[in-house]
Amino acid sequence: MAAWPRALVAVVLVALATGSAVLTSSLASTTARPTQVATADNAPVVLPSAQLGPTAPAIQPPQLTATSNDRVNVPIVYYHYIRVDTNPRDTLGQQLSVSPQQFQAQMDWLHQAGVHPVTLAQVWAAINGGAALPSRPIVLTFDDGHSDFATRAVPVLLREGFIATNFVVPGFLGRSSYMTYQQVVEVSNDGMVIGAHTMHHINLNAVSLQLAKIEIDASKSVLEGLTGRSVLDFAYPYGYHDPAVVSLVAQDGFRDAVVTTWGTQQCASNRYTLHRIEVAGSYNVWSFARAAGLPVPPPGWADSGLPPSRTS
Ligand SMILES: [Zn+2]
Repeated sequence: MAAWPRALVAVVLVALATGSAVLTSSLASTTARPTQVATADNAPVVLPSAQLGPTAPAIQPPQLTATSNDRVNVPIVYYHYIRVDTNPRDTLGQQLSVSPQQFQAQMDWLHQAGVHPVTLAQVWAAINGGAALPSRPIVLTFDDGHSDFATRAVPVLLREGFIATNFVVPGFLGRSSYMTYQQVVEVSNDGMVIGAHTMHHINLNAVSLQLAKIEIDASKSVLEGLTGRSVLDFAYPYGYHDPAVVSLVAQDGFRDAVVTTWGTQQCASNRYTLHRIEVAGSYNVWSFARAAGLPVPPPGWADSGLPPSRTS
């Protein structure tokens, strides 16, 4: 639960949501970081377009069941927007935007293929001697707290009986394209997991450790105060992290953290650098399944849509 009193959380919400530039710039300049070395984890891996078609060869097929007590193979996929980006010149926006129709098809295929969405808490438990994961597990994550998570993704997830985690940036809530405070509360009450992603989506490698600690700690406390639930999952903005940043996240009481490094093998030694797989806007249901190491739909498979009452 929140370590900060609610009154203080409210003050921070106001101060940080409106942009405490003075505080930020002051802290950023007071303590120089000894090193700003980028790790290999910083570079997200994107499938070449030539491999995106239905007939593309399999890529890094993982085993999808626990292989030992301290490691599991489970894809942690991440989305940003569930929307149609109508600006063809916005190449980054195009890459980050999965259409509602594609998202629906991907979730329907997961359902049909018997894939079981789980939480990062379940992944950690499986690594740490707790309950084993169900067959064909997957973790569905969303970055940045965009409003289409609440309006587009959650209705689909609820209809499928799926759970997902959204890494929210509290300082952006209420802005255009981001969830409101109320939407965060609602999706949390719907059963979705809220993770932290710093207060202002900063590159944690590029600021003082003092500011990095504030950004990490405040995002946790504000989201806990908002939802009334513990926030134990963290995502590094842009995937940027170094050993000092990882230590801050661990010291702040987070159970786990995710990066943007391609991979499906999760183990105790990368508890705070759990690998993920990006779901790009260019993926169809075949390339999505192949990228995540999941069963691939047969050629010609078409999403027929699920009846509203389907719950199994
Ligand atoms: Zn982000």
